[in-house]
Amino acid sequence: MRALGPLLRRSMHVRHVDAGSCNGCESELAAITGPVYDAQRHGLDIVASPRHADVLTVSGPVTRQMAGALRRTHEAMGEPRLVVALGDCAAGRCPFRGSYAAGTGLGAVLPVDATIPGCPPAPDEIVRHLRRLMAGGAGSGP
Ligand code: SF4
Repeated sequence: MRALGPLLRRSMHVRHVDAGSCNGCESELAAITGPVYDAQRHGLDIVASPRHADVLTVSGPVTRQMAGALRRTHEAMGEPRLVVALGDCAAGRCPFRGSYAAGTGLGAVLPVDATIPGCPPAPDEIVRHLRRLMAGGAGSGP
């Protein structure tokens, strides 16, 4: 786990990629910026470009069709950068793992710094894990 905390201080920008998700993880991630969980209050924001992002979150099992786009997104990010597996599919515990299209998780494509477990992870858990990363904590292991 790279020490990004001292650099991030109290602001962290997140670029998210759906790599074959059922969209459950995206629904929960979208909720973190709403008025209930209000992630911006904690210095967290979701951005549209990888060039603006400190952290790449990825959901889904990382299908073969998405692997190349995911690598290009990662390359477009500046250094230092973190990669987070959002949800059990990206963590390699996908119910569709091993099917003709599904991959075996994010770890097969990119180096994973932290995992946010759950199917899907609840919004408050997503905020908690991202805040921990922002503070320089290791988060959940890859
Ligand atoms: S972890 Fe669950 S909610 Fe998230 S993409 Fe996989 S099946 Fe869907």
